[in-house]
Amino acid sequence: MLPDSVSRLFSPELRDALVALRRDLHQHPELSSEEHRTSECLRVALEAVRPASLDRVAGTGLVARIAGRDPGSPVVAIRGDIDALPIQEATGLPFASRTPNVMHACGHDVHAAWAVGAAHLLARAPAEGDVLVVLQPAEETGRGAAAVLKSGALDQARAIFGGHVDRRFAVGQVVAEAGPLAAAADVFEIELTGRGGHGARPHEGADPIVGAGALVGALQTIVSRRLDPARAAVVTVGTIRAGSAPNVIPDRALLQGTLRSVDPDTRQALHEELRRIAGGVAATYGLTARVTIDLGPPPIVNPAETAAWARTATVMLLGQHALVPLGALNMGGEDFAQYMERMPGCFLRIGAREEGGERIPAHSGRFYAAEESLFVGAAVLAETARVASNALATGA
Ligand SMILES: [Zn+2]
Ligand SMILES: [Zn+2]
Repeated sequence: MLPDSVSRLFSPELRDALVALRRDLHQHPELSSEEHRTSECLRVALEAVRPASLDRVAGTGLVARIAGRDPGSPVVAIRGDIDALPIQEATGLPFASRTPNVMHACGHDVHAAWAVGAAHLLARAPAEGDVLVVLQPAEETGRGAAAVLKSGALDQARAIFGGHVDRRFAVGQVVAEAGPLAAAADVFEIELTGRGGHGARPHEGADPIVGAGALVGALQTIVSRRLDPARAAVVTVGTIRAGSAPNVIPDRALLQGTLRSVDPDTRQALHEELRRIAGGVAATYGLTARVTIDLGPPPIVNPAETAAWARTATVMLLGQHALVPLGALNMGGEDFAQYMERMPGCFLRIGAREEGGERIPAHSGRFYAAEESLFVGAAVLAETARVASNALATGA
């Protein structure tokens, strides 16, 4: 149930418009960097707010500037991401995706709608300084935040706030904690090269498939044997590709995977151990290993000061009981971290489970965010922007 303190911020017309926008986006999901229709819908929706400016950034992204009370006051930003995933929807919702194998399985339909909602609330009751409302493309590929930053659209921003829907928490619950909230998510690729030959005469070659098999097991000892058990880390091999026939030893095997960590030392250790073990296992089997690691977003670690602003805003809107702990560490990656390398900020988890609903994980074909979470997200982000803006203006 949507608390009264939030629902009364939205007129019936605005509420209908935001629900219609969210359902429309959900029904027409678009993959990362291809959000053309989505971007056009959001442009029209933001124009209704009459922002001081509305710019296209990073291809399919948008930044709306909502004027504050004092044009000389520090600028803050809020961000909603807008892209969908290559997953077949299985929610059975009346507004389920009409595009086969593409769906809003991460709730970015709601994030986009709540950013528009926050723009409305901030236009009606402005913050001290201007607020930049960022509609960011390509979160799922980890490219969007960097592209928005590169555009220069956020050069003036002194702090940034964003959030993610989460069905582990009920509508009306908010996680706004200092400390780690999302993990660094680096992608690795290991190419093992041996010498192919006849499947009946393995001694004449060097078999990269046997090496790959050994390597998958050995990589799991990084977390279990090489890292401090008190520090969180994940090594996942997600793809293995090798071979073309049952009786042929191939020349090459390719493994790809993801490395997750929430502190710089562990991240560094994962990279070093991955390279060391890949090289060692390859040598054992007479192979060579080529290892590449693509750096993904760093971890999100919310600073105490910005988290306190978000907590103040949440308590003002929803009361103290709305603040809930994250509980288990989240090892998901989130490119919002890239903004926080440039400026302080806070990333929230916004409860998105309706009464009696299940805890469906994101990136599942059954995932959706409860509709009411969109109003909580909009209200909390708008209020957080006001609290932050005021604190920055007064130096509090
Ligand atoms: Zn996602
Ligand atoms: Zn997401």
